[in-house]
Amino acid sequence: MINVTKTFLPPQDEYQAILKHAWDSGWITNRGHLVKELEDKLKDYLNVSNVICMTNGTLPLQIAIKALGLSGDIITTPFSYVATTSSIVWEGCKPIFVDIHPEYLTIDETKIEAAITKNTTAILATHVFGNPCHIEVIQNIAKRYNLKVIYDAAHCFGVTYNGKSVFEYGDVSTCSFHATKLFHTGEGGAAFFNSDTLYNNLYYHHNFGHKGNENFQGIGINAKMSELQAAMGLAVFPYIETIIKSREDIVLAYNKAFGDTSLSLLKLRESAKWNYSYYPIICPSEKKLKVILDVLNAKDIYPRRYFYPSLDELPYVKGYDCKVSRSIASRVLCLPLYHGLDETAQDKIIDLVKQSL
Ligand SMILES: *Cc1c(COP(=O)(O)O)cnc(C)c1O
Repeated sequence: MINVTKTFLPPQDEYQAILKHAWDSGWITNRGHLVKELEDKLKDYLNVSNVICMTNGTLPLQIAIKALGLSGDIITTPFSYVATTSSIVWEGCKPIFVDIHPEYLTIDETKIEAAITKNTTAILATHVFGNPCHIEVIQNIAKRYNLKVIYDAAHCFGVTYNGKSVFEYGDVSTCSFHATKLFHTGEGGAAFFNSDTLYNNLYYHHNFGHKGNENFQGIGINAKMSELQAAMGLAVFPYIETIIKSREDIVLAYNKAFGDTSLSLLKLRESAKWNYSYYPIICPSEKKLKVILDVLNAKDIYPRRYFYPSLDELPYVKGYDCKVSRSIASRVLCLPLYHGLDETAQDKIIDLVKQSL
């Protein structure tokens, strides 16, 4: 069976050697040595100002909304994973969908301004498949209208924009370290941000609001990453370059095969350095997508309809019709892409997709 992704598992003895620190210290959560070590490594490798590791990639979104004091309307993208929208609704805010660009697949920055009203407090946009939004334009709009910016950068481990980590942009960027993501801790995630003054605010929100043992600064939740999660991250860490390189090779093979077919491929933002995190193909029609899926499934190959459906179709949001996003969502398939997908498998996938066209 070939799935859309396969979790990279580090050599078990290396994981165990790191876990031994937890056993020796008897400390398996509450920000022990391993979480701190992982945060230091992330800061160093990604060249970012601040990071707080958390228990998954959804809580940092919710905590960012809460910690930035957002209320009312948040402008967002309909083409993302459900967590982007659900976090807004969960925090009692209203998602205002702005349609996406048909090739970059990120929020259409030229349509944001028209959606701003006196109730708008923020923009929550997703860097889709690791492809950054048009950050300068969004930054400009946010400045002019005094809006906060949160980026769902769940797919962006290692991505740079204008030579800087993409996590350095916006008030807060969030990442997911879920087992299906490029870098992972099993379950896990982080908030990245460059304002030092935001650190305490985000920190206490992710730890019940504690200010020391006996005082509380405000309301909080439990989003702490455990030592066991951090140990997995530390064990995966030495393999990051290898993982990215092997993904790059597969992407190049796919690009070569699909470049002059009726499929549309992701258009990468010019000022970004990408991380090869996903390989979306956009089929000429949903009917064609279903043919491709059937042909691949019959051979035990499972690409994923990701993202599908368009989030403006969720049962708890009403009154939208984001035409571009709905059209793309109905036709997009992410092909298998992971470290260890060998050439035989790649060729098989390529042949089957091409035959189905
Ligand atoms: C994976 C993902 C999330 C959620 O991350 P979890 O770690 O699974 O909670 C949020 N947004 C996007 C775009 C994602 O792909």
